[in-house]
Amino acid sequence: MSADFLQTPIEYLKGIGPQKAEVLKKELRIFNAGQLLEYFPFRYIDRSRFYKVSEINSEISLVQIKGVLSQIEEIGSPRKTRLRAYLKDETGKIELVWFKAVKWIKDNLIPGAAYVAFGKPTLFNNQFNIAHPEMDELAKVKPNQFFGFKPVYNSSEKLGRQGLSSKGIEKVIHALLFSPNCHISETLSNEIRQELKLISRTEAIKKIHNPQNPEDIKHAQRRLKFEELFYLQIEILHRKKTRQQQSKGFIFEQVGELFNTFYRNYLPFDLTEAQKRVLKEIRADMCTGRQMNRLLQGDVGSGKTMVSLLSALIALDNGFQCSIMAPTEILANQHYESFMEALGEMPLNVALLTGSSKTAQRKKIHAGIESGEIHILIGTHALIEDKVKFKNLGLAVIDEQHRFGVAQRASLWKKNSLPPHVLVMTATPIPRTLAMTLYGDLEISVIDELPPGRKAIKTVHYFDSQRLRVFGFMEEQIKLGRQIYIVYPLIEESATLDYKDLMDGYESIVRRFPMPEYQISMVHGRMKSEDKDFEMQRFIKGETHIMVATTVIEVGVNVPNASVMIIESAQRFGLSQLHQLRGRVGRGADQSFCILMTDDKLSREARVRLKTMCDTNDGFKISEVDLKLRGPGNLLGTQQSGVLDLKIADLSSDTKILHFARETAKKILEEDPELNLTQNEPIKKQFNYLNSKKQDWSKIS
Ligand code: ADP
Ligand code: MG
Repeated sequence: MSADFLQTPIEYLKGIGPQKAEVLKKELRIFNAGQLLEYFPFRYIDRSRFYKVSEINSEISLVQIKGVLSQIEEIGSPRKTRLRAYLKDETGKIELVWFKAVKWIKDNLIPGAAYVAFGKPTLFNNQFNIAHPEMDELAKVKPNQFFGFKPVYNSSEKLGRQGLSSKGIEKVIHALLFSPNCHISETLSNEIRQELKLISRTEAIKKIHNPQNPEDIKHAQRRLKFEELFYLQIEILHRKKTRQQQSKGFIFEQVGELFNTFYRNYLPFDLTEAQKRVLKEIRADMCTGRQMNRLLQGDVGSGKTMVSLLSALIALDNGFQCSIMAPTEILANQHYESFMEALGEMPLNVALLTGSSKTAQRKKIHAGIESGEIHILIGTHALIEDKVKFKNLGLAVIDEQHRFGVAQRASLWKKNSLPPHVLVMTATPIPRTLAMTLYGDLEISVIDELPPGRKAIKTVHYFDSQRLRVFGFMEEQIKLGRQIYIVYPLIEESATLDYKDLMDGYESIVRRFPMPEYQISMVHGRMKSEDKDFEMQRFIKGETHIMVATTVIEVGVNVPNASVMIIESAQRFGLSQLHQLRGRVGRGADQSFCILMTDDKLSREARVRLKTMCDTNDGFKISEVDLKLRGPGNLLGTQQSGVLDLKIADLSSDTKILHFARETAKKILEEDPELNLTQNEPIKKQFNYLNSKKQDWSKIS
């Protein structure tokens, strides 16, 4: 009975007629009482204290003052009248002014009566005044009506027009909250609540909308955030378990001849401890009989390629094929070259398939893959076309995961009786909290160590006006035998302008560094891919000194002798992109540099980004800052943002609660996988309820 009340359609609730109901549905997707109660305030205004007139200073953003109203009068010219009054307490008086609805306001104010005025004090002619204060006559104020923490709700113009400004929303929510029918059932077990000292759901909902003090807000938020994250984790873990049960995987028991031969005779360096550890994790996964789904996070230059090669050899040793998919042609090429080089004389067939593979070549490759003659297939999206049919794909490696959608990942393993093991590699470190949530159903490995002998890249920020110095520095570095990247932004919306910048930049570089003494490459997206490749190869081989490029070189490119990365209009890049770009240098033994060039008009956020880049080389730290600046949705693109549609929790700041939620969910599902214990009844109920809601939603959209 009580749970049903929350299902009541909003049009039947007190104070909500058909029109209000209509906009609530349209604008906020609120259909029933329960959803209305879950429309949480996004901040609060502290009305818990009263200020004296003499206490007001410019530090205080909002004040409320108790006093007697006097000298109400219209002033100014007839066409621009304003209303002025004074509020007086025992310490002094403050001016109140109104510029709009002057007459109406004047008629409603009672001279000589005691009022509470609330608003933002501003300094004008050395005196504080408050423009358009909220006025409440003290005699009419109900106890507790205002004097506490006032919730502020997100509203919109359309909502406002229907009387649902923040204040209006507060009113309908309060009416609902204090109606005698309003029973809110508990969704967490007593065990959890006691252990984590969480207040009940009823209390939390009441306090979140109507707190009396900061403690109330804290407790209510903690409880509701926990609940939200807890169910998110339950869902993720449940999905993971279902997947594990369903998806049987190939068993790669052997570390055989290929792996051992390579390890003994061809491995060009000792693996770092982190690489060894990750390889062990991958091997263990491949022996469980379940499909591996592992995310390998490792900062740029941490040596993920070698890990993928060694994993591929394990697949091959067990009679399977392996595919490596990269997001760009340049990168696919580079993987191909480094595989070929590393594999040396080993008796393996490695093929490269990209958008620019010629038809005849392509046919040959398709045949080779289907017959099993080709052991390792490296490529771009071309690799997941329907025509590509593997004889027995055992391992699918996806490099730089953030550029592929979930659907693309899945299409790879449609080709088999059993799905191949999947290793997703990304150089965009995702903060742990977020990874746990977004990829909660993936296992996560981290390479947290760079190969030995790397010097930290020195990063500096220069303004365009300091360009001559930068040219001088470039000259020095070229004399030392180093190579230099200069990267220009390329944003689709302003592509034409961006290309112009690139060309102008190229010309000024050519002028300053003339042939034949200097050789310069240029690579951008409007070039034919042969030309791109040709230019890229010239730079890789050390034939050119400077590479002028757009962000096509962002991902993965490896030229150890390049030691300077100059990023033009650096303020236009996001943090993770800046970090990626910087990762192109610092790959050899020499000291490397990253120079961020900007004009002098910088937003506050751009300053934070530039400073972060200058302060640290640590990709994880950078991703934490990025997450704070941009929020999780933007950080990861749209594919996964559904998970991030959170009502109250914030993945970038609620780390601790997220951790508790994860641990608690894990423990509960371990003890009681199907949630059949009596104590877990409320959890099962809520979980089923949330799931049923999801299905409904998918039917609607
Ligand atoms: P990323 O993780 O960014 O893909 P790469 O795999 O391209 O990094 O590796 C970057 C560079 O480091 C390559 O030149 C690679 O040969 C080298 N490298 C990788 N692992 C080691 C190691 N253990 N010791 C020395 N150099 C290594
Ligand atoms: Mg790489």
